[in-house]
Parts: sequence; C-alpha cells; structure tokens
Amino acid sequence: MKCSRCGGRAEIKLRQHNASFCRDCFVPFLQRQVERSIEKHDMFTRDEEVLVAVSGGKDSFALWDILISLGYKTTGLHLSLGIGGYSDRSTEKAVAFAETRGLRMITLSLRDEGLAVDDATEFTKRPACSACGTLKRYYFDKLAYERGFPVVATGHNLDDEAARLLGNVLHWQMEYLGRQHPVLQPSHEKFVRKVKPLFRCGEYESAAYCFFRKIDYIIEECPNSVGATQLHHKKVLNQIEAVSPGSKLAFVQEFLDKAQPLLRDKAIEPPGTCASCGMPSHAEVCARCRLLREVESKRLARADRLRLQAIAAAELEPVGVAEPAISAASTSDQRDVDHT
Ligand code: AMP
Ligand code: ZN
Repeated sequence: MKCSRCGGRAEIKLRQHNASFCRDCFVPFLQRQVERSIEKHDMFTRDEEVLVAVSGGKDSFALWDILISLGYKTTGLHLSLGIGGYSDRSTEKAVAFAETRGLRMITLSLRDEGLAVDDATEFTKRPACSACGTLKRYYFDKLAYERGFPVVATGHNLDDEAARLLGNVLHWQMEYLGRQHPVLQPSHEKFVRKVKPLFRCGEYESAAYCFFRKIDYIIEECPNSVGATQLHHKKVLNQIEAVSPGSKLAFVQEFLDKAQPLLRDKAIEPPGTCASCGMPSHAEVCARCRLLREVESKRLARADRLRLQAIAAAELEPVGVAEPAISAASTSDQRDVDHT
C-alpha cells in the first residue's frame, strides 16, 4: 500500500477518501481537512481566541493539537466531571497534555461547584448522560461568557454527528435537526458561538492522529456510556460504512447541504434568562439549576433521615449495645436500681 501523496509506504487507509497515507503525510492531510471545515463554515479566525473543550480523550486532544499547529489562538477548558475514578484519570491526561506543552488551560471541578455527575446519578432518577450533558453545556457556556471567549470548540467527530443525526431522524426531531450544525450561533447575549471543527473527521482518524503525534489520551470509555443509545447507532453506522465506505460522511454532509437549511426555522425559540443563575434558559429556571435544586433537596432529606436514625440508635444504645458487655457486678447494680 503506497501513500497517495508521496508514494512512500502507507500506514493508514482512508476508504471514505479513497486514499492511503504515510504518517508524515497523514498529519498535514488531517490538519488541512480541519482547516477547510473551519474556513468553509466561518467557525473562527486567527484573531479570535478559541476556548477548546478538552476531555482527556483522543478527539479533543487531536483538535487542540491541530488548532495549535494551524496557528490558531487557543485556551483549553477541562471539566473534572466527578464520574468516579474515570474523571480523575481523564483530568490527569488533560493536565499532563497542557503542562508538557506549556498551554493555557482552565480546569474546573464540578465537585467543587457542589454538583458532580455522580451526585446527579446518586440523588436523582435522571440518566447519567443527560445530567452530564446538561452540566457540560452549562459550564462551557458560562466560562466562555464570563472569561470573554468569542467561541467554544468541541471535539465532536463525524461518528458523533452521524449517530446524532440518525437518532434525530429516527424520531423526526425537527427542532433538534434544525439546530444540528457544526456552527451554532449565539441566540442569547450570554451565549457564545459553538463549533465542531472535527465534524468531518472520523474517530479512527483522530485516534490515528494522536498515535502518530504521540499524544497520550484516555482510552477507557466513560462507565456511564455502557448501553447508551448513541453507541448502538454508531455500531449500525459502522456496519453500513463497512459495506459502503463514505456513507457516514455523505449522510452528515448531505444533510447539512440539502436538508438542514430547510429546517432552520424549526429550531426552538431563543431562550430567556434563568431566574436563579442568570444564564440563558428556556424555562423559568435553567436545567442545571433545576438539577442542583433537586440534588440539594434530596441531600437535605437524606441528611435528615440519617440524623433521625442516629438519634433512634442512640436511644436504643443502653439496652441494645451495652447489655452483652454487662459484668456480674454491674448487673447487680442495675438490679439494685430497678428495685428502688
Ligand atoms: P462527549 O460528549 O463525551 O462525546 O464529548 C464531546 C466533546 O465535548 C469532547 O470532544 C470535548 O470537546 C467535550 N468534552 C467532553 N467531556 C469534557 C470534559 N470533561 N471537559 C471538557 N470538555 C469535554
Ligand atoms: Zn440557572
């Protein structure tokens, strides 16, 4: 197999592009692909400082590395989500990536903010992924707005976008389809532009990019993603791609070219403002503040229950706990008291 660019020995084959590359040619090829997406969709310019959301996974590291290589101005944003040890390991990777390259990165721990993803799972019946999505979106928006970044970039890739499109089409979610685009313009003064520069780049490509660039990323999957519907959709799309290379790219790109423009007016109304935190919201109180309230009230109820149990246990203690340890002497003392 020969490299389509230099004729040297190819190490990676991209069936959807009908091309093969050696590592030295693949890296600039992918960078150029991403640059084209950024320019074609006016995602951002080289004068704007881009807030890059980095999870510790391959896609967002590949994105950050590509943006830096292309000469864009960037700052990283990592959220330590509070999903058991998985989050700690992800944070370690993100911090190591930024530190070894001397990059600016904002790190925020959701546990320190009083509401980690694990709290939502423990105290509410909401699916973990839905709470996690709510919190991520909230802090991406909030931090970008508060720190004055004009744009947030995420590492959503072609597989994510194709799976999301399939999910939206299966249920004909017109509002979501109207908003599914690699560039989301702000619909509120506290929103900033949100972009997905990797939307044409498959997960295989971002993994290969990290491998060739020797980027150390977290390989383990989020424990909450097990059984997630999106994973089923990805599996189905991979089966289609195997028999018909290029299907995923065509599915997403042709949706964007042909159908999405017709659906834009189906997108939901612009949001109002959350009465609790002042961030944009479609309801009186935003999804994150509602989640916080629910967790806090359940936390208080649990603390009350535990306190009552402790009081009840203390009441029982002289009989229930002390009895087996009673010596002969103290037993007679007790009897004496009883007889008085
Ligand atoms: P996911 O929602 O996990 O598929 O991730 C999609 C994108 O969201 C990633 O490529 C990142 O850009 C961003 N992201 C996910 N998790 C985090 C995190 N903990 N901190 C910062 N950005 C994240
Ligand atoms: Zn709020």
